[in-house]
Amino acid sequence: MSTHHTPESSAHLSEPNCIFCKIVQGQIPSQKVFEDEDLLAFHDINPWAPIHFLIIPKTHIASMAQLNPSHEAMMGRIMVKAGELALQVGALPYPEGGFRVVVNTGRHGGQEVHHVHVHVLAGERPWQKI
Ligand code: 5GP
Ligand code: ZN
Repeated sequence: MSTHHTPESSAHLSEPNCIFCKIVQGQIPSQKVFEDEDLLAFHDINPWAPIHFLIIPKTHIASMAQLNPSHEAMMGRIMVKAGELALQVGALPYPEGGFRVVVNTGRHGGQEVHHVHVHVLAGERPWQKI
């Protein structure tokens, strides 16, 4: 039983045409890094860096623009998980190593998949993008 607050937007737990909802439901395979009741982390299919994985909430939220105070704890957990999982998949420790976190939002933000996701990038530079 989760002790987390239920998001106010729980009316749409998943969207039928959302790639990341399909990954959550196992309809599209993914290389998982971490999973619990609320979050899923998996390797990006087209990595921009030697280490590149995504962390998503299991419930469908289109982007960071839809976040409201009911999502604070869940998004906070994602940020804490980012560094923990980066080390787990081989990122070198801060400060010599470290990682980058990116959240693309909307067209001007370069968002392609409309299910909120936090990119975690790490490893030796130079990287393909950004
Ligand atoms: P955005 O531009 O929306 O921030 O990034 C979406 C990311 O999702 C891209 O880096 C893309 O490579 C990744 N992606 C898209 N489809 C899939 C998929 O089916 N599986 C995985 N693992 N990653 C995907
Ligand atoms: Zn979704």
